[in-house]
Amino acid sequence: MKPLDWKVTARDGNARTGTLTTRRSVIETPVFMPVGTQGALKGIRFEWLEDEIDARIILGNTYHLFLRPGVETIKQFGGLHNFTSWNRSFLTDSGGFQVFSLTDLRKLTEEGVEFRSHLDGSKRFLSPEVSMEVQAALGSEIVMVFDECPPGDAGYDATKASLDLTVRWASRSKTRFDRLQDGGMDTGYKNPLAHADGADLSGKQSLFGIIQGAGHLDLRKESLDRTVEIGFDGYAIGGLSVGEEKSVMYEVLDFIAHKMPDNAPRYLMGVGTPEDLIEAVNAGVDMFDCVIPTRNGRTGSAFTSHGKLNIRNAKFATDDRPLDPECSCSVCRRYSLGYLRHLYQAGEMNASIMISHHNVAFFMETMRRTREAIRTGEFQAFRKQFLDKLTANATDGV
Ligand SMILES: [Zn+2]
Repeated sequence: MKPLDWKVTARDGNARTGTLTTRRSVIETPVFMPVGTQGALKGIRFEWLEDEIDARIILGNTYHLFLRPGVETIKQFGGLHNFTSWNRSFLTDSGGFQVFSLTDLRKLTEEGVEFRSHLDGSKRFLSPEVSMEVQAALGSEIVMVFDECPPGDAGYDATKASLDLTVRWASRSKTRFDRLQDGGMDTGYKNPLAHADGADLSGKQSLFGIIQGAGHLDLRKESLDRTVEIGFDGYAIGGLSVGEEKSVMYEVLDFIAHKMPDNAPRYLMGVGTPEDLIEAVNAGVDMFDCVIPTRNGRTGSAFTSHGKLNIRNAKFATDDRPLDPECSCSVCRRYSLGYLRHLYQAGEMNASIMISHHNVAFFMETMRRTREAIRTGEFQAFRKQFLDKLTANATDGV
């Protein structure tokens, strides 16, 4: 039995829509996964995510949870689902991305990475094995291999060396992951299975491999081939949106996404804006995550079907329209731009909460409309109309 079930239900060019079933939820793809860095979305309660926004899967960050509250605390609760009360699916990253962004605080060896906690300066260590053990204790449905993510402008030789290390770490990740799943080690996870909606699933975790190679297409292909050879339940594209030009990101996506195994979900890590999502779907990607809906929400920046809008703009002071007249989220149904602007200017926390809420709802609605367009064979028309509208009216700037 498999840990997850994946079916493509319709295609339009390289774009595809499908159903991803984990032991805890049925997820329609393409899907946007909101990011719950510390076991919570910033400003958005789980009941809103479940009842209104209908997110079926969210992210948890291994690095943050590893440092605080720490694995032992989460083990006491029997895993991240029990601890947080989020009972649908979790995808956890490996912790690698955050560790590698601490350039001054880390020491990289073949074995793993020693780093200093950004919280208290204490020495900590992450490796493929430690990451798999932490993610097993968290009990996420989708586990990511521990990889090295080079900077977007890394040269060829540095990218190649990093890729080789990432492949060796992917192999070590898989070995330790398999041992943990086979019951050879106590994971501390005590909350194994809620429901899988009738799917024939094993109730175990699934493991995704990560393709690196920065902007070097031949290295991307090599990374893909060597990662597929190890064999994973799904495949992710890492190392994009890390400082490279946007044209490089699109070139890599167009080159690699449709070459990834057709019979497994394809996940683009840490990307991106609504237009990035549409373009990546066009290239063949199924899954996304990004912090921007909540991060921008906190600074008063709203994503709408007519482009980005800055709530601080004085022209909204007496505007009685919603953030996005085409959005049916609870914020847009009830509150005016003028009121939201007032709350933001007054430093009321509800401003950040409500704009974040709308932003997440807008990303989810965009993916829902994308799926519908693929199903009806109208994805190209939808893509053109969506992108035209974003740019035609994007005059507010942020
Ligand atoms: Zn809205």
